[in-house]
Amino acid sequence: MPNTSIRFACNGCGVCCKGRLIPLTLNETRQWLARGHDVAIVLEAFNEETWTAEPQQFAHSARRAAEVRSGGAKIQVVAVFTANALGQCPNLGADDRCGIYEERPLVCRIYPMEINPYIPLLPQNKACPPETWQTGEVIFTDHIVDATLARQVEQSRQADRDDAQAKIDICEYMGLTTAAWKNNAMAVYQPARHELMAALDACEVNTHESGGKEWSVRVNQSGLRQQLQDAHIRLNDDNASNYIFHEL
Ligand code: SF4
Ligand code: SF4
Repeated sequence: MPNTSIRFACNGCGVCCKGRLIPLTLNETRQWLARGHDVAIVLEAFNEETWTAEPQQFAHSARRAAEVRSGGAKIQVVAVFTANALGQCPNLGADDRCGIYEERPLVCRIYPMEINPYIPLLPQNKACPPETWQTGEVIFTDHIVDATLARQVEQSRQADRDDAQAKIDICEYMGLTTAAWKNNAMAVYQPARHELMAALDACEVNTHESGGKEWSVRVNQSGLRQQLQDAHIRLNDDNASNYIFHEL
Protein backbone atom coordinates (compact mmCIF):
# COMPACT_ATOMS: atom_id res chain seq x y z
CA MET A 1 0.00 0.00 0.00
CA PRO A 2 1.40 3.41 -0.92
CA ASN A 3 2.73 5.17 2.17
CA THR A 4 3.72 8.40 0.47
CA SER A 5 3.09 10.38 -2.67
CA ILE A 6 5.81 12.65 -4.01
CA ARG A 7 5.25 15.14 -6.82
CA PHE A 8 8.12 16.77 -8.63
CA ALA A 9 8.66 19.22 -11.50
CA CYS A 10 12.23 20.26 -12.34
CA ASN A 11 12.54 24.04 -12.70
CA GLY A 12 15.91 23.91 -14.45
CA CYS A 13 17.74 25.81 -11.72
CA GLY A 14 21.00 23.88 -12.32
CA VAL A 15 21.81 23.53 -8.62
CA CYS A 16 22.26 19.76 -9.00
CA CYS A 17 25.02 20.47 -11.56
CA LYS A 18 27.20 22.24 -8.97
CA GLY A 19 29.24 21.27 -5.93
CA ARG A 20 29.31 17.52 -6.46
CA LEU A 21 30.92 14.50 -8.05
CA ILE A 22 28.69 12.94 -10.69
CA PRO A 23 28.89 9.12 -10.94
CA LEU A 24 29.48 7.84 -14.47
CA THR A 25 29.10 4.46 -16.13
CA LEU A 26 32.15 3.14 -17.94
CA ASN A 27 30.76 4.23 -21.32
CA GLU A 28 29.96 7.65 -19.94
CA THR A 29 33.50 7.86 -18.54
CA ARG A 30 34.91 7.34 -22.05
CA GLN A 31 32.61 10.02 -23.45
CA TRP A 32 33.45 12.42 -20.61
CA LEU A 33 37.19 12.01 -21.15
CA ALA A 34 36.78 12.31 -24.92
CA ARG A 35 35.06 15.68 -24.40
CA GLY A 36 38.24 16.83 -22.65
CA HIS A 37 37.01 16.69 -19.06
CA ASP A 38 38.59 15.03 -16.02
CA VAL A 39 37.27 12.03 -14.14
CA ALA A 40 37.95 11.35 -10.46
CA ILE A 41 37.83 7.87 -8.93
CA VAL A 42 36.43 7.18 -5.48
CA LEU A 43 37.48 3.84 -3.93
CA GLU A 44 35.44 2.35 -1.13
CA ALA A 45 35.98 -1.01 0.60
CA PHE A 46 33.82 -3.13 2.90
CA ASN A 47 33.32 -6.71 3.96
CA GLU A 48 30.55 -8.91 5.25
CA GLU A 49 32.13 -9.47 8.67
CA THR A 50 31.95 -5.82 9.71
CA TRP A 51 28.63 -5.08 7.92
CA THR A 52 26.07 -3.75 10.40
CA ALA A 53 23.08 -2.96 8.14
CA GLU A 54 20.56 -5.44 6.73
CA PRO A 55 22.00 -8.46 4.85
CA GLN A 56 19.99 -7.46 1.76
CA GLN A 57 21.85 -4.16 1.74
CA PHE A 58 25.14 -6.02 1.82
CA ALA A 59 24.00 -8.09 -1.17
CA HIS A 60 23.06 -4.92 -3.04
CA SER A 61 26.43 -3.29 -2.33
CA ALA A 62 28.39 -6.47 -3.09
CA ARG A 63 26.76 -6.73 -6.53
CA ARG A 64 28.26 -3.34 -7.47
CA ALA A 65 31.69 -4.26 -6.04
CA ALA A 66 34.51 -6.61 -7.02
CA GLU A 67 36.17 -8.98 -4.60
CA VAL A 68 39.89 -8.33 -4.13
CA ARG A 69 42.69 -9.68 -1.95
CA SER A 70 43.94 -7.66 1.00
CA GLY A 71 46.46 -9.21 3.40
CA GLY A 72 44.98 -12.51 4.50
CA ALA A 73 41.41 -11.50 3.68
CA LYS A 74 39.03 -10.95 0.80
CA ILE A 75 37.27 -7.59 0.74
CA GLN A 76 34.76 -5.91 -1.57
CA VAL A 77 35.81 -2.74 -3.36
CA VAL A 78 33.60 -0.35 -5.31
CA ALA A 79 35.26 2.04 -7.76
CA VAL A 80 33.01 5.01 -8.47
CA PHE A 81 34.14 6.90 -11.58
CA THR A 82 32.90 10.46 -11.28
CA ALA A 83 32.75 13.64 -13.30
CA ASN A 84 34.20 16.54 -11.37
CA ALA A 85 31.49 19.14 -10.83
CA LEU A 86 32.78 20.28 -7.44
CA GLY A 87 32.81 23.85 -8.68
CA GLN A 88 30.24 23.27 -11.36
CA CYS A 89 29.84 20.82 -14.23
CA PRO A 90 31.91 21.87 -17.27
CA ASN A 91 28.81 21.33 -19.41
CA LEU A 92 26.66 23.78 -17.50
CA GLY A 93 26.03 26.95 -19.48
CA ALA A 94 25.78 30.51 -18.16
CA ASP A 95 22.01 30.15 -18.56
CA ASP A 96 22.08 27.09 -16.22
CA ARG A 97 21.22 24.82 -19.15
CA CYS A 98 23.01 21.56 -19.85
CA GLY A 99 25.29 21.80 -22.89
CA ILE A 100 25.06 18.06 -23.59
CA TYR A 101 21.41 17.57 -22.70
CA GLU A 102 20.74 14.78 -25.21
CA GLU A 103 23.89 12.93 -24.10
CA ARG A 104 23.87 13.74 -20.40
CA PRO A 105 24.80 10.94 -17.98
CA LEU A 106 22.18 8.60 -16.60
CA VAL A 107 22.40 9.99 -13.06
CA CYS A 108 21.59 13.47 -14.42
CA ARG A 109 18.43 12.01 -15.99
CA ILE A 110 17.47 10.26 -12.77
CA TYR A 111 18.09 13.03 -10.24
CA PRO A 112 16.48 13.69 -7.76
CA MET A 113 15.29 10.07 -7.62
CA GLU A 114 17.41 7.74 -5.47
CA ILE A 115 19.25 4.94 -7.25
CA ASN A 116 20.04 2.91 -4.12
CA PRO A 117 16.78 1.09 -3.22
CA TYR A 118 17.68 1.27 0.49
CA ILE A 119 17.86 5.06 0.60
CA PRO A 120 14.44 6.71 0.90
CA LEU A 121 13.58 9.60 -1.40
CA LEU A 122 13.50 12.59 0.95
CA PRO A 123 12.96 16.00 -0.68
CA GLN A 124 14.77 17.74 2.21
CA ASN A 125 17.95 15.84 1.29
CA LYS A 126 17.87 17.03 -2.32
CA ALA A 127 19.23 20.15 -4.00
CA CYS A 128 15.92 20.99 -5.65
CA PRO A 129 14.09 24.08 -4.34
CA PRO A 130 10.99 23.46 -2.17
CA GLU A 131 8.53 24.66 -4.82
CA THR A 132 9.61 21.92 -7.25
CA TRP A 133 8.05 19.35 -4.92
CA GLN A 134 4.67 21.09 -4.92
CA THR A 135 3.79 20.67 -8.59
CA GLY A 136 4.21 18.21 -11.43
CA GLU A 137 3.29 14.57 -11.72
CA VAL A 138 3.52 12.08 -8.87
CA ILE A 139 6.89 10.41 -9.41
CA PHE A 140 7.02 8.19 -6.34
CA THR A 141 4.57 6.43 -4.02
CA ASP A 142 5.95 3.19 -2.57
CA HIS A 143 7.63 2.68 -5.94
CA ILE A 144 8.79 4.80 -8.89
CA VAL A 145 5.62 5.74 -10.76
CA ASP A 146 7.12 7.16 -13.95
CA ALA A 147 7.98 4.27 -16.29
CA THR A 148 10.89 6.09 -17.99
CA LEU A 149 12.43 7.02 -14.65
CA ALA A 150 12.00 3.45 -13.36
CA ARG A 151 13.76 2.12 -16.46
CA GLN A 152 16.63 4.59 -16.09
CA VAL A 153 17.11 3.71 -12.42
CA GLU A 154 17.26 0.04 -13.34
CA GLN A 155 19.74 0.82 -16.17
CA SER A 156 21.93 2.65 -13.69
CA ARG A 157 21.86 -0.22 -11.19
CA GLN A 158 22.63 -2.69 -13.97
CA ALA A 159 25.55 -0.58 -15.25
CA ASP A 160 26.97 -0.49 -11.70
CA ARG A 161 26.87 -4.29 -11.63
CA ASP A 162 28.15 -4.75 -15.20
CA ASP A 163 31.04 -2.29 -14.81
CA ALA A 164 32.18 -3.26 -11.29
CA GLN A 165 35.01 -5.64 -12.21
CA ALA A 166 36.18 -3.61 -15.22
CA LYS A 167 36.50 -0.48 -13.09
CA ILE A 168 38.58 -2.36 -10.52
CA ASP A 169 40.76 -3.75 -13.34
CA ILE A 170 41.38 -0.18 -14.55
CA CYS A 171 42.32 0.95 -11.04
CA GLU A 172 44.72 -1.97 -10.65
CA TYR A 173 46.25 -1.18 -14.03
CA MET A 174 46.98 2.35 -12.80
CA GLY A 175 48.22 1.14 -9.40
CA LEU A 176 45.32 2.70 -7.51
CA THR A 177 44.92 -0.04 -4.92
CA THR A 178 44.32 1.74 -1.63
CA ALA A 179 40.68 2.28 -0.69
CA ALA A 180 38.94 4.02 2.18
CA TRP A 181 36.48 2.08 4.34
CA LYS A 182 32.77 2.52 3.62
CA ASN A 183 31.03 5.05 5.91
CA ASN A 184 34.39 5.99 7.48
CA ALA A 185 36.20 8.01 4.81
CA MET A 186 36.55 8.67 1.09
CA ALA A 187 39.67 8.04 -0.98
CA VAL A 188 39.49 10.24 -4.08
CA TYR A 189 42.02 9.84 -6.92
CA GLN A 190 42.36 12.39 -9.69
CA PRO A 191 44.31 10.62 -12.44
CA ALA A 192 45.61 12.57 -15.43
CA ARG A 193 43.09 12.37 -18.26
CA HIS A 194 45.50 10.77 -20.73
CA GLU A 195 46.54 8.14 -18.16
CA LEU A 196 42.98 7.15 -17.46
CA MET A 197 42.22 7.02 -21.20
CA ALA A 198 45.24 4.75 -21.75
CA ALA A 199 44.15 2.49 -18.89
CA LEU A 200 40.63 2.25 -20.32
CA ASP A 201 42.05 1.29 -23.73
CA ALA A 202 44.50 -1.23 -22.27
CA CYS A 203 41.87 -2.94 -20.15
CA GLU A 204 39.33 -2.92 -22.99
CA VAL A 205 41.63 -4.91 -25.27
CA ASN A 206 42.48 -7.16 -22.34
CA THR A 207 46.22 -6.62 -22.32
CA HIS A 208 46.04 -6.58 -18.55
CA GLU A 209 45.47 -9.61 -16.37
CA SER A 210 42.79 -8.78 -13.84
CA GLY A 211 42.33 -9.76 -10.25
CA GLY A 212 45.91 -10.28 -9.12
CA LYS A 213 46.75 -7.15 -7.16
CA GLU A 214 47.09 -6.79 -3.42
CA TRP A 215 44.83 -4.07 -1.98
CA SER A 216 45.12 -2.08 1.23
CA VAL A 217 42.77 0.07 3.24
CA ARG A 218 43.45 3.46 4.80
CA VAL A 219 41.73 3.94 8.14
CA ASN A 220 42.66 6.41 10.88
CA GLN A 221 40.02 5.57 13.48
CA SER A 222 41.57 3.29 16.11
CA GLY A 223 38.59 1.03 16.83
CA LEU A 224 37.98 0.31 13.16
CA ARG A 225 41.71 -0.20 12.54
CA GLN A 226 41.78 -2.88 15.21
CA GLN A 227 38.68 -4.52 13.78
CA LEU A 228 40.19 -4.69 10.29
CA GLN A 229 43.56 -5.86 11.60
CA ASP A 230 41.79 -8.65 13.48
CA ALA A 231 40.17 -9.60 10.16
CA HIS A 232 43.70 -9.77 8.60
CA ILE A 233 43.00 -6.89 6.22
CA ARG A 234 46.10 -4.99 5.12
CA LEU A 235 46.10 -1.39 6.34
CA ASN A 236 47.96 1.37 4.56
CA ASP A 237 49.67 4.03 6.66
CA ASP A 238 51.69 5.58 3.83
CA ASN A 239 49.88 8.92 3.76
CA ALA A 240 50.33 8.65 0.00
CA SER A 241 49.85 11.89 -1.86
CA ASN A 242 48.22 10.44 -4.98
CA TYR A 243 44.74 10.60 -3.45
CA ILE A 244 42.67 12.83 -1.22
CA PHE A 245 41.67 11.14 2.02
CA HIS A 246 38.51 12.69 3.36
CA GLU A 247 37.20 11.41 6.70
CA LEU A 248 33.41 11.41 7.03
S1 SF4 B 1 26.03 16.86 -17.68
FE1 SF4 B 1 24.44 18.42 -17.83
S2 SF4 B 1 22.82 17.75 -16.42
FE2 SF4 B 1 24.66 16.62 -15.89
S3 SF4 B 1 25.66 17.83 -14.28
FE3 SF4 B 1 26.53 18.49 -16.24
S4 SF4 B 1 25.31 20.25 -16.88
FE4 SF4 B 1 24.16 19.14 -15.27
S1 SF4 C 1 18.32 20.91 -8.65
FE1 SF4 C 1 16.38 19.85 -9.02
S2 SF4 C 1 15.06 21.45 -9.85
FE2 SF4 C 1 17.16 22.21 -10.05
S3 SF4 C 1 17.81 21.54 -12.13
FE3 SF4 C 1 18.44 19.94 -10.68
S4 SF4 C 1 16.75 18.43 -10.76
FE4 SF4 C 1 15.95 20.36 -11.59
